[in-house]
Amino acid sequence: MTAQSHANDKAGEAAPGLTLVRLGLTDRERALFAPLEADGFSLGRVMRADRGMAFVGVDGAVVRAEPAVHLVKTAPSVDTRIAVGDWVAFLRPEGHDHAIVEAILPRSSAFVRKDPGEQTAGQVLAANVDYVFLVQALAPRAPNLRRLERELVTAWDSGALPVVVLNKADLCGDAESWRDEVAAVALGVDVHLVSALTGEGVGELAAYARGHRTVAFFGPSGAGKSTLINRLVGEGTQATAEVRESDGKGRHTTVARELLLLPQEGVLIDTPGMRALALWDAEEGMSAAFPDIAQLAEGCRFRDCAHQDEPGCAVRAAAEANELDPARLESYRRLVAELEHLAAKQDVRARQEQSRSGRQLAKTIRRFYKERGH
Ligand code: GDP
Ligand code: ZN
Repeated sequence: MTAQSHANDKAGEAAPGLTLVRLGLTDRERALFAPLEADGFSLGRVMRADRGMAFVGVDGAVVRAEPAVHLVKTAPSVDTRIAVGDWVAFLRPEGHDHAIVEAILPRSSAFVRKDPGEQTAGQVLAANVDYVFLVQALAPRAPNLRRLERELVTAWDSGALPVVVLNKADLCGDAESWRDEVAAVALGVDVHLVSALTGEGVGELAAYARGHRTVAFFGPSGAGKSTLINRLVGEGTQATAEVRESDGKGRHTTVARELLLLPQEGVLIDTPGMRALALWDAEEGMSAAFPDIAQLAEGCRFRDCAHQDEPGCAVRAAAEANELDPARLESYRRLVAELEHLAAKQDVRARQEQSRSGRQLAKTIRRFYKERGH
């Protein structure tokens, strides 16, 4: 902690070497931000988002910021909640401790799951991501292909490109055969064998981030994401420095950033503690993650075939002939059922909100006539 960064503590933390370009700024964000810049806003990228507080990277500093009231006072929605990786327009009002985030720029991609605390809301886990690394360990247990399928659906749906990373290759005798097995599930997706421990294959992963691209890491805990990220970033570098947060009583706690810079080029996003990944509105992701089933379905007698017990189902026929792995069809059905369940709940919520606003309107109209003496 330098004297200079202490002096800057109120407005933010000095971060020499940090630039918007290194944070991944492209012409897309420049164009989106141009009209806001004319109105006096500043641009930055969210390096960590907690409830009620964001750490925003700008040229030479990390700024503490709060979301503006108009973002907070809305029903939870993916569009109004700040997520790590977001590009935001903010203001620094005179005499304010914190900057105020006034707008979230439209995202180029968003990795969204169902909010575990909300029945019918989505939660953005990472925004403006170019590649999603889906990390699985090859040992001590075999990779979980069913979990991988679920992550692939969400990754394809995010708008980013998925990449599968099979880690702990040093502990696995038949890593090559796992690569083939996983490739059969992750159709059209690059599959890498790596060891975060020995460094084998890690250089190829860094290549995805060249050109200041953003890579997000997902996967079960214990898969080796932190070890992999540490190896890529290099421990003890500027990029891994922690953000100091005031607790309002003059004490400071350290907060780990979720968005890190690679020493050369590139941005990594680590979202820790992702246990459950419930699907969120991922129909497009389904057809991208299961192109084999989508293609077989063209041979089904009915266009809206659910591949359950309809006559003339080409998908079921393929599974029965073992041309399609029956476990994969089962996994597909389970994910479809999950999405249908979600859609039904969203319908109920939409109807409730409609009737709420309907009641509200009726009340207003009654009051209007009462006041006019009808
Ligand atoms: P995370 O929960 O996904 O972030 O996983 P961690 O990075 O914390 O790793 C979990 C455990 O696996 C730690 O004990 C690591 O040292 C170990 N580990 C991570 N990568 C490798 C690897 O490539 N080979 C071996 N043998 N162990 C690894
Ligand atoms: Zn069918």
